[in-house]
Amino acid sequence: MKKFFITTPIYYINDIPHIGHTCTTVAADIVARTHKIIGDEVFFLTGTDEHGQKVAESAAKENLSPQDYCDQISPRFEEAWKKLNIDFDYFIRTTDKRHEKVVQELLQKIYDNGDAYKDKYEGWYCVGCEKFLTETEMVDGHCPLHPPEKTVKKSEENWFFRLSKYVPKLIELIENDETNYIAPVGKKSEILAKLKAGVRDISLSRENVEWGISVPWDTKQTVYVWFDALINYYSATQFIEGKKDFWPANLHLIGKEILWFHTVIWQAMLLSAGFEVDKLPKQVYIHSFYMIDGQKMSKSLGNVISPQQLIDLFGVDGSRYLIARSFPTDNDSDVGIERFKEKYNADLANNLGNLVSRVTKLAEGVTTKPFFNPSFDRAGSLDEDFVKLINNCRFDEAVGLVFKKYIDSSNTKLNEVTPWKLDNNDPKRIEVLGYCIKNILSASLHLKPIMPEVTQKIENCFENKVKTLDAPLFPRIK
Ligand SMILES: [Zn+2]
Repeated sequence: MKKFFITTPIYYINDIPHIGHTCTTVAADIVARTHKIIGDEVFFLTGTDEHGQKVAESAAKENLSPQDYCDQISPRFEEAWKKLNIDFDYFIRTTDKRHEKVVQELLQKIYDNGDAYKDKYEGWYCVGCEKFLTETEMVDGHCPLHPPEKTVKKSEENWFFRLSKYVPKLIELIENDETNYIAPVGKKSEILAKLKAGVRDISLSRENVEWGISVPWDTKQTVYVWFDALINYYSATQFIEGKKDFWPANLHLIGKEILWFHTVIWQAMLLSAGFEVDKLPKQVYIHSFYMIDGQKMSKSLGNVISPQQLIDLFGVDGSRYLIARSFPTDNDSDVGIERFKEKYNADLANNLGNLVSRVTKLAEGVTTKPFFNPSFDRAGSLDEDFVKLINNCRFDEAVGLVFKKYIDSSNTKLNEVTPWKLDNNDPKRIEVLGYCIKNILSASLHLKPIMPEVTQKIENCFENKVKTLDAPLFPRIK
């Protein structure tokens, strides 16, 4: 069995789950479930990032200790993912002592290899992002992702990581197709350009931030929250029993705001800690953002879409489908509740749902055995192009392929042959219904990673004898 290790970012606990987190997590779940269908042994990791100043401040506001605060908030993410039927294998929390131990061990290696040194750092710091900003990242003198007051001038003594030392090696790896780990291709060129423009060393620790993991060789300092967070991908494989062989990760799925950390800093840290090139993560896939009705999603605009809001409107599988269809690959994807409704009604209620309803009514009571092989080889029956598209996070194209190949063709044939006008025993009627049943079952198998519950309901309709549905699969939404 091939091993496949896939991760989402661990989400910063100071936030509440929104469509941005949802899109990455659903995407990872779709890829993970596809790999399960083709017979891989999958390890799917998600979790929460729980250290840093921002968390300590939020906890203080609520009169809680940081740990109590994290213990209250972290389950919100876990629950949100369970509601969306995300089949993750492990939910990691960076306050787990076993994770903290691996972080310290890895940093000690970086120190022992001479890649940490003490220096004074002065610069603009975004409390929202928990990071120092470079001149090019700032817009109008502050962080573009957070309100201006979150950007503050800071000066402190830090331990620095010799990131610059690893730049030539990273360029070499990314430029070589055999070892390149950045996708899609637009992001690869973006990173190469930045690396070639010159890279400065970065702080690996903070002073005066108590809520963090202490630096093993200098307990007055705590590990910069980003170093701590990135190591989760590796630490999980080390402290969870039986997962060691899953390292290196096959796919880190991330949003573009954390691109630099995941494609430069993370690899440099691993190289510095003595990882060979074949032990570096195989691929980092960077997706873009959602725009909501042409605007950036923001709390102040009040246009943030929560996973619960989607589920209330479209159901779990409907929400997962809409996310897959609108997944922002190379560019930002403009979405909105009204457009989601149109897409849901067109594809799911009128097309797929209607086809299943028509065919089950026409073929009710018919023994399904002659129409399909019940021992239907799952592993071998996924379309190769479909799997390729899923692996490249081209979910919209993958679903489009399934609709065209199985669903649209069935609808066309039904309308041509009009079996409802033919006698029950007419061979033409039997043939067209058989064709449609086979196609519906193939569509269902392909759509399983995206809509696990609905596809199960569809398959149930065709077990032994064709049964009609108790209720529409996808009720139309006004
Ligand atoms: Zn920021």
